[in-house]
Amino acid sequence: IYFTYNKLFLSMGKLFVISAPSGTGKTSLIQSALKDPMASSSKLGISCTTRDRRAEEIEGTSYFFISDDRFEEKILNNEFLEFAKVFGNYYGTPKDWVLATLEKKENVILELDTQGALQVKARFPEANTIFIIPPSYEDLQKRLEKRNQDTDEVINARLKEAKKEVSIGKSFDRILVNNDFDEALEDLKTLMFTNNDLPRNRKLHAEKSLDLLLD
Ligand code: 5GP
Repeated sequence: IYFTYNKLFLSMGKLFVISAPSGTGKTSLIQSALKDPMASSSKLGISCTTRDRRAEEIEGTSYFFISDDRFEEKILNNEFLEFAKVFGNYYGTPKDWVLATLEKKENVILELDTQGALQVKARFPEANTIFIIPPSYEDLQKRLEKRNQDTDEVINARLKEAKKEVSIGKSFDRILVNNDFDEALEDLKTLMFTNNDLPRNRKLHAEKSLDLLLD
């Protein structure tokens, strides 16, 4: 059984699950990494969500925006690889698409919250989980304020949630710090497109930042 299992995964694409506290810059980093020529056989998963569409978002590109009833129907039909409730809304990853893409030997990148990432890791132990951290909570707060998207109340809720996410994210396979966008992008590309680990100085920087966040 072990042999078959290994053989199966050797002939499939790689699965990456990326999480980060909200405001860390995860989406921009992933979007930039996907513009690299090395990303030609990597596909970003499109999730279903029950939250309202934001003005700049496109149905079927950013998310599939569906009703609560429809989402619950999909849960019952076992259509999700994982799902979670984040900030009061449902989010879920369509299972068939992920499996079909991996079978085509394409790499799949999922941008999930930490609960979803752990669910995927439990089902696919060979998934590569990557957690992106801010250099400090002060830095994260500044970024959330600069984004000008949320009220003070929402920013405080996001910071509180960030602490919970960090306590879960510390167990991910790889941790990288977004202190400087270009350096973090380089780190992400290294992990996604090569078989190398991060350079020693970058790894140390991430570990130090993580310690600070866990204090
Ligand atoms: P947003 O509403 O800002 O687009 O996303 C909120 C959070 O939900 C982010 O952390 C995002 O990564 C996460 N998320 C997006 N899609 C999924 C999904 O399919 N499953 C899970 N568990 N989290 C998701």
